[in-house]
Amino acid sequence: QVKNNGKNHVAFYDAALSRDAVEHFQLETELRQALNKNQLNMFYQAQIDLKTGMIIGAEALIRWMHPTQGIISPAKFIPLAEETGLILSIGEWALAQSVRQAHAWHQQHPEFKKIAINVSAVQIMKSKFADTVYGILMESECDPSIIELEITESTLMQHTQHVVDTFNQLKLLGISIAIDDFGTGYSSLSHLKRLPLDQIKIDRSFVKDLPNDKDDAAITSAIYAMATQLGFTVVAEGVETEEQEKFLQRLGCQTAQGYLYAYPVNADDFVKLLTLNNQRKIKRHA
Ligand code: C2E
Ligand code: MG
Ligand code: MG
Ligand code: MG
Repeated sequence: QVKNNGKNHVAFYDAALSRDAVEHFQLETELRQALNKNQLNMFYQAQIDLKTGMIIGAEALIRWMHPTQGIISPAKFIPLAEETGLILSIGEWALAQSVRQAHAWHQQHPEFKKIAINVSAVQIMKSKFADTVYGILMESECDPSIIELEITESTLMQHTQHVVDTFNQLKLLGISIAIDDFGTGYSSLSHLKRLPLDQIKIDRSFVKDLPNDKDDAAITSAIYAMATQLGFTVVAEGVETEEQEKFLQRLGCQTAQGYLYAYPVNADDFVKLLTLNNQRKIKRHA
């Protein structure tokens, strides 16, 4: 479309840039109001016990129901929320919402025993995060042992005393900690030893081409073996096929998550799925 070089080209380029900037600014303004306007919503993706096929928990995944743009993915607005500091209020809301929901499900369905909640590095670095979690636990009366916080490797890289202290405080509250997207970041293996972690989530990029890709099979097996020997449980992310499932079952992996079992859905749909799936599995195992 840009025919000529020189000044016109530059002007065109500037216009495109400022259009981006305007869009960015507009999205930020809208995100600022999204919480109060009830546009944020938690979706839940089932986590499956690979031995029984039962749904034993869920990962909470945030969605922005934008009035004109439809559902906006967290991959798009969480980075914006982190840049602007909005992640502190949004993250706290997501945490409280997910904990309250999980408490109710756990009471009605005892086999539902885990809610995994994503936490941004900014929340850990810029707030008294353990105090926030403590407050939510008190208010919801939720059993802390059903709560698992997912932290990405980049959070571990900022391996400051503050991160270590916060993790230790969280452990004292009785909740567990998982490393998300394991194998994609640059965390040193020594972090696995020093930090009080409970679970490793094998990133979807390693699961995607299982079982045929030899490298991915080797990496997945190695992560599983190391995690198990260090005493961590393992969740495989992004399981989409039965071949992938079989590979993971043979490995001994306990838990899986992915489109093969369920997409992330809203709370009403999740409880339907939980009830239906687990009734069916209980019958099969009876
Ligand atoms: P994540 O924590 O690694 O979450 C897994 C992502 O993979 C989710 O994307 C999920 O919908 C998607 N997924 C699950 N199964 C499959 C599968 O079989 N195939 C494929 N292709 N994808 C699958 P989603 O919901 O778009 O979330 C993207 C990321 O946004 C999350 O990655 C997480 O890092 C972040 N995020 C989501 N909710 C929150 C939140 O409440 N707080 C924070 N801080 N971050 C969040
Ligand atoms: Mg996650
Ligand atoms: Mg992940
Ligand atoms: Mg991810």
